[in-house]
Amino acid sequence: MSAPTWTNPETIALHAGWRADPSTGSVAVPIHQTTSFQFQDTGHAARLFGLAELGNIYSRIMNPTVDVLEKRVTAMEGGVAGLALGSGQAATSFAVMNLCEAGDNIVSSTDLYGGTWNLFANTLKSLGIEVRFVDPADPENFVKATDDRTRCWYAETLPNPKLNVFPIAEVAALGRKIGVPLIMDNTAAPVLCKPLQHGAAIVMHSTTKWIGGHGTSIGGVVVDGGNFDWEAHADRFPTLNKPDASYHGAVWTQAVKPLGPIAYIIRMRVILLRDLGAPMAPMNAFLTLQGLETLPLRMERHCANALRVAAHLAQHPAVEKVIHPSLMTGEPKRRADAMLKAGYGSLMGIELKGGKDAGQKFIEALKMFYHVANIGDARSLAIHPATTTHSQLSEGEQASSGVTPGYIRLSIGIEHIDDIIADLDQALAAATGTGLRAAAE
Ligand code: PLP
Repeated sequence: MSAPTWTNPETIALHAGWRADPSTGSVAVPIHQTTSFQFQDTGHAARLFGLAELGNIYSRIMNPTVDVLEKRVTAMEGGVAGLALGSGQAATSFAVMNLCEAGDNIVSSTDLYGGTWNLFANTLKSLGIEVRFVDPADPENFVKATDDRTRCWYAETLPNPKLNVFPIAEVAALGRKIGVPLIMDNTAAPVLCKPLQHGAAIVMHSTTKWIGGHGTSIGGVVVDGGNFDWEAHADRFPTLNKPDASYHGAVWTQAVKPLGPIAYIIRMRVILLRDLGAPMAPMNAFLTLQGLETLPLRMERHCANALRVAAHLAQHPAVEKVIHPSLMTGEPKRRADAMLKAGYGSLMGIELKGGKDAGQKFIEALKMFYHVANIGDARSLAIHPATTTHSQLSEGEQASSGVTPGYIRLSIGIEHIDDIIADLDQALAAATGTGLRAAAE
């Protein structure tokens, strides 16, 4: 009996990719804490190695617990196949390196997580892969920076600190006209946005954040949309269209055709994962699955709480400005409404009237919010970027990345809204001497 195809995220999160274990009846996904798998016979082993049949060989390449997570995130994003990795950083690295060789380039939005920025500006550069950064305010900037050696475009759906939603549909459509795939980091908007539906070719997540949701496990997943014709632009994608000397001359767009449009993700697994390592551990896949099962429910509460907090702080006398898509106007609001169908997310920026000094005091006065360099936990989190994540940048660089001296990044959790607002209010009072509780609710 084939598994039903669900489209609702609440059901996908609980059921996609797994039905009770055929040998034990286990309903929860078992943790297959094993390095290797016994072959049925020599023919079976040869078929697995020759990719005539997909199956378990060795846990660096695939593992049954990790496989369920891959299938479930893939179903959630509406893709054809996925690959889980040891971190979100590994997922970004693999997503780009799967298409690039030394001498190639990619075009990326400037609005990026700092770790991705470093990877692109320094590490990929040292490997001979140039990253051309463009302002996403004008989608045409991507086309202008593209040449024959451009292998992909890269952006985040909901990048912090500015929280300007990326124009996925516009940029993806421009890329498809000239045969360039768009890779989206959808870490901050799972469930809220499905980049593949808007024309992106590949989606990645740091599962460390909302998908895992409980701050227990670092991880990443890349999902292949199966919606990009790599063969039609064969010259642009040599890694998928030229014989691969490290795999008996396999041409990936041809070799796995009978298995579906999965050339991109298969090549990532059998070449990059084989050669560079960085698999997700089975235990982390299990813990991430526990998070994923309640993700749609948590996203609802994350978003509802964030909306209330944004409205409350927007009227607070100690707050200069609140940065949240719900409060934006003009083109940024139009983009947020077009891309985020189920809520504006739970990241928020606030600028305090007292600048850096007030920002530091506010963080120190928080009693329930955790002061951590993380986002997307079920608990509410806060950080003062000017003195932490962005402290290596000059004030000018901080300003251009959207970080002012009094900027605080909040990741609103799923606690009771009254407790979230009470903690923010008492910390604002302690930091700025403004005790007034605005009458937002
Ligand atoms: N992408 C985004 C948007 C992130 O916020 C992060 C981490 O903060 C990453 C990627 C990297 O993920 P990881 O920390 O799991 O390597």
